[in-house]
Amino acid sequence: MPRFVNPFELPGKWYKGNFHAHTRTSDGALWPQEVVQCYREHGFDIIALTDHEHTNDIRGLSDDKTLVINGMEAHPPFPERRGNYHLAVLNLPHSFPISRRSQQDVQSCLDQVARVGGLSILAHPRELSMDISEFGGLKHLPGSEVWTALSEGDGNCGSSEREWAEAMEHGVFLSAIGSDDVHWAPRHGLREAYAGWPWLKMRSLTVANVLKAIRTGACYASAGPTIHDFRVADGKVKLSCSMAAWIDFKAGPDQRRRRVAPAGKTIRSFNIDVPDWPFVRAVVTDAAGKQAWANPLRL
Ligand SMILES: [Zn+2]
Ligand SMILES: [Zn+2]
Repeated sequence: MPRFVNPFELPGKWYKGNFHAHTRTSDGALWPQEVVQCYREHGFDIIALTDHEHTNDIRGLSDDKTLVINGMEAHPPFPERRGNYHLAVLNLPHSFPISRRSQQDVQSCLDQVARVGGLSILAHPRELSMDISEFGGLKHLPGSEVWTALSEGDGNCGSSEREWAEAMEHGVFLSAIGSDDVHWAPRHGLREAYAGWPWLKMRSLTVANVLKAIRTGACYASAGPTIHDFRVADGKVKLSCSMAAWIDFKAGPDQRRRRVAPAGKTIRSFNIDVPDWPFVRAVVTDAAGKQAWANPLRL
């Protein structure tokens, strides 16, 4: 069962992050300082730059309110088919050299990142048509994108909830991360910017706290809705959130409870008696179809 904490019961403050962004140092359209400025102006507290197999010089980009993290999108090959993993990697030293071996083997890559204090997130598994057998057994992979705005805009495959949930059913609990995979390239328009993010519950804005929040599940993913509370108390599973069209509690494939708002109205909470499930996770959907995904709670 989950090693996760419940962020809604932790002390601290919610911080908004962007853990997947490209700049002109790979195939993005803006320079690192421009990307940071855009996200800062849109209320993001944490901004990771994750160019393809390339790190950036982030000196001077953080300030009192905005934490900039050096990262990379790494692409070790799939072992059994054509194509590559996409790993959004956080907290790498500048000019981090991906070894030749890591470029050929996904576990070597994850291990190499972990050795230097970095953290890897599985990027857009739905877009890559990934199967649980390709990532369920990997070590040093504590999170997965459940929403990737660029994938939605490019191929209506933004939601990776299915892959994330399937892993859970196999006992693999990955922190839910929302992301933009922003490029600002003309071919994409601007539609992927500010369209998916994680909220992290932390005592203060430091890189160590960001990595800890992802590793322990002290976070949730959103493409719009805000989850105010989600907990098990007094024999109930309880959730409160911003205005929603429906709210789902889920575990396995046949374990699902849904509350739907009456026609033309919205709901802001859902409470049920604790079901006979091993865990419960929540998905909030608003009237525009935007969703938020809470990590599982142990029952
Ligand atoms: Zn990618
Ligand atoms: Zn990317």
